[in-house]
Amino acid sequence: MSENTKNEIESIGEFGLIDELTREFKLTNDSSVKGIGDDCAVISSEGEHCKLLSADMLVEGVHFNLSYMPLKSLGFKAVSVNVSDVYAMNGKPEQITVSLGVSSKFPVEALKELYAGIKAACEFYSVDLIGGDTTSSYSGLIVSISVLGVADKTNISFRSGAKENDLLIVSGDLGSSYLGLQILEREKGVFNANPNIQPKLDGYDELIKRQLQPIARKDVISMFEEMSFKPTSMIDISDGLASEIMHLAKSSECSFSIYSDKLPIAEKSILTSEELGLDPFVCALNGGEDYELLFTADQKDFEKFKNNPNFSIIGFATDKSNGNLLIDKNDSAVTLNAQGWRHF
Ligand code: ADP
Ligand code: MG
Repeated sequence: MSENTKNEIESIGEFGLIDELTREFKLTNDSSVKGIGDDCAVISSEGEHCKLLSADMLVEGVHFNLSYMPLKSLGFKAVSVNVSDVYAMNGKPEQITVSLGVSSKFPVEALKELYAGIKAACEFYSVDLIGGDTTSSYSGLIVSISVLGVADKTNISFRSGAKENDLLIVSGDLGSSYLGLQILEREKGVFNANPNIQPKLDGYDELIKRQLQPIARKDVISMFEEMSFKPTSMIDISDGLASEIMHLAKSSECSFSIYSDKLPIAEKSILTSEELGLDPFVCALNGGEDYELLFTADQKDFEKFKNNPNFSIIGFATDKSNGNLLIDKNDSAVTLNAQGWRHF
């Protein structure tokens, strides 16, 4: 779609819209330490702790398709995407509220499945369901979750703390969730064309699981604690690596250079992207929904991450004037562009 045929919201994008709507709001309470602009809001409380608060909404047809998303997985995923924002602040989630918009035609049994997934996630992440809201919806299922977490005041990682020469590090691997979605979409297309053909999902289990039931990286936060490590900045990867790098760069007033050959891409993701005619680097950079943690570390912490199989050092922070660069194996640099996850 060309710029002049796009509607207003499409032109400014999700972040432009949030900025447009919230620009005039100022924080007036001393307890509001951090408002809009990070993975969670930070609220001061007595003693050495702070409260963390975040909300994420999943909308049928935008974030999930019930033709291949089992409701139990949807429940689990809705909690994962929320608690991931608490881990992204180096915090621990403790409570959630769940609000539903649902058609009265929806079977109660199906909603119980959704809640079975929410319960499994509450147990996995050790969070308590403490409330919510229920209303009717005429345009599909809506699951909106808010999460409350806690962190030590001195231990919170904001998006804004990266300094020049810091290492840029990512947990796990990238692109798997996006490729899982492409496989599900391919098989849905085949099935729609001929309902007698069974979907071919065997062998793609790991990719599909990453899409349908992602696990937020609570284990990474425990590893940081064991290593006595605090990231200088951190964000979780929901919209895609490139987009999140740009958020860290903007908040930290720096730039990043990353190396394409350092991007962690699983063997299965490379094979599947080849099969689908996709570029595995593009999937890793712009796929999104990885729910890995992207963070920066002071150079003095290099030894903690060098040869650590849980992490990949993908680049480093530079002066803002350098711009965000992607350096390929021939040492040529291109400007990093973010596709992001386009809702609009
Ligand atoms: P994340 O991807 O980590 O969930 P988002 O990109 O959704 O974060 O949101 C970025 C920031 O904008 C967050 O601080 C979030 O609380 C805030 N935000 C998003 N939507 C709204 C809104 N409609 N009104 C006010 N703040 C919003
Ligand atoms: Mg986030």
